[in-house]
Amino acid sequence: MKILAIGRNYVAHIEELGNERPDEPVVFTKPNTALLTKNKPFYYPDFTQDIHHEVELVLRICRNGKFIDERFAHKYYDAIGVGIDLTARDLQAKAKKKGLPWAIAKGFNGSAPLADHFVPIEEIPDVKNINFRLEINGEIRQQGNTSKMIFSFEEIIAYLSKFFLLQKGDLIFTGTPEGVGPIQLGDTMTAYFENRPMLETAVK
Ligand code: MG
Repeated sequence: MKILAIGRNYVAHIEELGNERPDEPVVFTKPNTALLTKNKPFYYPDFTQDIHHEVELVLRICRNGKFIDERFAHKYYDAIGVGIDLTARDLQAKAKKKGLPWAIAKGFNGSAPLADHFVPIEEIPDVKNINFRLEINGEIRQQGNTSKMIFSFEEIIAYLSKFFLLQKGDLIFTGTPEGVGPIQLGDTMTAYFENRPMLETAVK
């Protein structure tokens, strides 16, 4: 199982971080040790002082494939979940400035809280119109809708499958909407798929 992730996929989020709008998807990976499931708490590590929340929809890949045509890409995922792409923004800023990789800033232990339940595609009326959001201590911080993605799920799958053999069980984080910001000790993050709370992570 591998975790692939897309950066800069929502215009308003690109603007809030002062980044450029990409011509091609911005891709990074997280190791499987980044996964934090079963609503386990997240323990704030001491190597960073600025971890940001990025709520994202996550595709679950259901069959193997490479060089997947965009027209058939919808057959390669069978469910959508919600996750949080926790990012050590201070370490990422340092890496960006030097043109160095984001592996640590994006991939440290527990940096990918993930809902245990995925919503099967059959239960989703329109994948191009899914609302999702993140609340912290009951207050809305991020709200997204898939109609605002720059690259659609199908484009992402087609693109990634050129470089990486997609395998059953792989996860793809599809980018975050605007509203990212720091998490603090004592916070509780709750991620919603439409109005269903799917994931709750306490910061300790
Ligand atoms: Mg992200």
